Order: sequence, then C-alpha cells, then structure tokens
Amino acid sequence: MSLERMNFIGGQYRESHAKGRIQVFNPASDQLVCSVPDSNKNDVDIAVSSALKALPEWKATPAISRARILFRFRELLEKHSLEITTRLSNEHGKTREDSAAELARAIDVVEFACGVPELLKGEHSRNAAKGIDCWSIMQPVGVCVGITPFNFPAMVPLWMIPIALACGNTFVLKPSEKDPSAPALYPELLKEAGLPDGVLNLVHGSADTVNHLLEHPDVHAVSFVGSSSVAESIYQKASAHGKRVQALGGAKNHALVLEDADLDLAAEQLTGAAYGSAGERCMAISVVVAIGKKTGDQLVEKLARKIENLTVGSWQSSPDFGPLITQQHYSNVVSLIEKGIEEGADLCVDGRNKEFPCGSFIGPSLFDSVTETMSIYQQEIFGPVLCVVRVESYEEALRLVNQHSYGNGAAIYTRSGAIANHFCEQCEAGMVGVNVPIPVPVAWHCFGGWKNSMFGPLNMHGPDGVRFFTKMKTVTSRWPESLSGQLQETLNIPVTR
Ligand code: NAD
Repeated sequence: MSLERMNFIGGQYRESHAKGRIQVFNPASDQLVCSVPDSNKNDVDIAVSSALKALPEWKATPAISRARILFRFRELLEKHSLEITTRLSNEHGKTREDSAAELARAIDVVEFACGVPELLKGEHSRNAAKGIDCWSIMQPVGVCVGITPFNFPAMVPLWMIPIALACGNTFVLKPSEKDPSAPALYPELLKEAGLPDGVLNLVHGSADTVNHLLEHPDVHAVSFVGSSSVAESIYQKASAHGKRVQALGGAKNHALVLEDADLDLAAEQLTGAAYGSAGERCMAISVVVAIGKKTGDQLVEKLARKIENLTVGSWQSSPDFGPLITQQHYSNVVSLIEKGIEEGADLCVDGRNKEFPCGSFIGPSLFDSVTETMSIYQQEIFGPVLCVVRVESYEEALRLVNQHSYGNGAAIYTRSGAIANHFCEQCEAGMVGVNVPIPVPVAWHCFGGWKNSMFGPLNMHGPDGVRFFTKMKTVTSRWPESLSGQLQETLNIPVTR
C-alpha cells in the first residue's frame, strides 16, 4: 500500500479538504510510491492564515535566535541525509551520488542563512548632513510562498526557505507534485530544530493550488522555479496581485569549444554536464558550439565514444544516470528527437534504441550539424540529448548565445584569457563558466539567468536572496538638543560633532 502524505500546517500534519489526490510514481519501476492531496482554496487559506498568525512573533525574534534554529536544522539535515536522499532517488530517479550532491548544495544555503545577523546589519551614515544620521533597517516582507520544480526537489526549496526564515518571514511551500517526499520532511525537521509552529507550512498540490496562493491577499512575496512558460505567467499573475516576485525559468545552455581548447577535458566534462541526471538540470549543457571543422570533428568523435559507454538504470544499480521523471516527459523527449531527425540534424548516437523492461528510461543521444532554425536547438528538451552546432568563428558562436531566447548559463572552453574575458563580459547569460561546464554559483553568490530564464529583478540566494526577502527602510534622524548646547549644559561635557 502506498503512503498518503499530508499537508503540514501550524506545526502539525493536517488532512486536506480536497477530494482529489495526486499519485507519485517511482520513474524507474512505474510503481506507486505515495499520494499527496491536491490542496484546494480552503487548505491554502488555512496555511496562509497560519503563516500570518506566526509572523509578528517570528519577525520580533532576534536574528541570532533565528540563526540558531537554522544551525540545528543543518545538523538534522545531515542526520537524516540517508532518508532524504532515498526519498529523492525513489521519486526522481537520480543516482545516489546526484541526490547526495543535491542535498550538499542545499545545506550550503542553510549555512549561508546562518550568517543572517551579519547579513542584516544594514547601512549607517553618521553625520550625513550636519547633525543628521541616516541608517537602514532590513525588515521582513511578510508571508512568502515558494513553488518548486521536480528536478531538484530537495535543493530548490532550500534556496528559499532558510533565507526567508532567517530574514524574519513566514513561509508556505508548494513542492513539485511529481516528487514531493524529500521536501515534505523539512517542516518536521525545522520543528524539531525549534522553529515555532506556523512559521513554515507546506501544502501539496498542482496548478490550482498555486493559483490560490498567487491570488491570496495575505501573501506578500512569491519565489518560483520551473519552466519558462509557467514562470512568466506566475510573474505576471503574482505581480498583478501586488506581490514581490522572483520567477526562474527554463534553459538552453551553450558551451563554446574553441580551437585551442583541451578537447579531452572538454569532452569529459561536457559528457557529465549534458547527460548527468538524465539532462534534467536547468544548468545542463544542451548545446555545444564547436568552432572550426577540426574542433567539431574531433569533439564529436570523442563525445560519441564517451556516450556509448554511459550506463542507464535504477539508482540501486549505480548507473551514470536514471530515468526521466514521467512517461509523459519521455514521450516529449522522444518526439523532439524525431523532430530533430525530420528537420535534418545528424543523430550520431541514438538513445532510443536501448531496451528497458519498465520505467521511463531513455539512453543518451547526440545530434551533430544542428542549426539555429531547428526545434531541437530552439526548445528546451530537458533530457539526455546533446546538440552540436558547428560554426567558423568565435564571433558567430557568441552571436548564437546572445540571440537565443534563453540565457541561464553559458560556458567557454579555451586557453585564451583574452577571449574568455571577452566572453564573460559580452555573453548574455546569467551564469558563466570558463573551462567549467556547469557554473552553478556557490550559496553566497546569486543564482539566476537572463532573458526567458528569469522573470523579476532579484536572483536566488546570495545577496539577492537577502534583498528579495527583506524590505529596506531608511531612517533619517536629527537630535536637535545634541547640537544646541543643551546637552553640554546638562552634562557639562564638550560637544564634539
Ligand atoms: P513546471 O513549470 O512544470 O512546474 C514547476 C512548479 O509549478 C510545480 O510546483 C508545479 O506544480 C507548478 N505548476 C506547473 N504548471 C503550473 C501552472 N500552469 N500554473 C501554476 N503552477 C504550475 O516545471 P517542472 O517540470 O517541475 O521543472 C522543470 C523546469 O524547471 C525546466 O524547465 C527547468 O529548466 C526549470 N528549472 C529552472 C531552474 C532555474 O534555476 N532556472 C532550476 C530548476 C528547474
């Protein structure tokens, strides 16, 4: 019998008012793992009002006390890491190593948020004008909502929750309905760490649940990560309802490989970057731009040789990567591969020809001679499919990056510092790698893309995370007595301003 997971509201698990439930399957075996409520307006109202009720006391709690709860939460994440990563691999399908790496990156953000007393110190100008001081107070935004995608179900909620809570906000999380069990542990662990009831609430559900959250008058900020079409509509809808929004979308990350690059290193790293986690990473490399015929020929040969050896299977068999998230997503990836062939790209390695007894597995595919007008170049495939585009010059390659509608990450392989520097300066993407294929910023820097990969001005975590979850107030103050000499008379000490 499968587990029936519940919402977590006001410090306890609660039955949902919704009739419908969403079933969650193991994508490697197609077996039912659990079900979650498809929470309705009533559930959302209860969760938001619980967050609103907890807000005044949490907001008034000193930052250092909030940080201490996060320190304990960090220890509990480590203590429960096996349970979290097992839930993750069972529902997402990613390998044990990928699940462990995901949790490790999530813990980095908790550690960053533990430094909140330092992060909220604000600014102070003494004697900004004669006898006038000017200083800032960074105050919480209020009730914040997080809506997260399936591909990093444990990490992405922790891009938001620790920083939001550290800054004094209360929170409602709506995790992905495709693999909700890993983040479903967080409210319980935070309660054990000492978090007061109602500060973090979790409602399961789908698009309708999200819409109730976006429309709720007591929600003040919305953090979203997912596909671009949904990100854009969330940005528009939540903004129209007066909320602060950050909405991160999809990607089509290019890696340029120049003639002077170390091709063995590039082929090794690009294989991991393109096929790791079945290509279901927003920072996966999905396009390689090879500069010059010789570079293209050698790189395609090296990539093809590596790809043929990749293993695919359930996480228990320690493969290189696991299944796609659902049968529906499998069909989308297969139809894009078919479209690529139809539109004239050269499929040098065909991942569709591997046989699997069950699950939504697909092998790695490699396309050569992909052009700008093809669907496989323009659309996010989000599967283990790498497209090689051949160009004659660095300028042409840079133009491709800059004209693409997505601008999440981009990488360059070269030995030339001058070209790498030019690329960092000129490429239109939010995160750039130099001889690094997946330039995911560390927790104390900001994560976010450009163009259709990001809607809203403030990125995730790092200084932007703190800015997103705080409202800046600037105080200008004057104490006339301190200037008039009255103080001098009373205290008989010289005024030194
Ligand atoms: P998705 O957009 O389908 O779903 C994301 C979340 O939005 C889920 O919680 C889902 O329940 C909700 N949702 C789905 N449709 C909705 C709708 N119409 N209205 C309101 N809410 C809706 O994304 P996904 O398939 O779970 O995740 C994969 C996508 O996320 C890829 O495009 C990937 O590139 C992107 N992603 C981006 C980043 C980033 O940092 N830019 C990180 C991870 C994933």
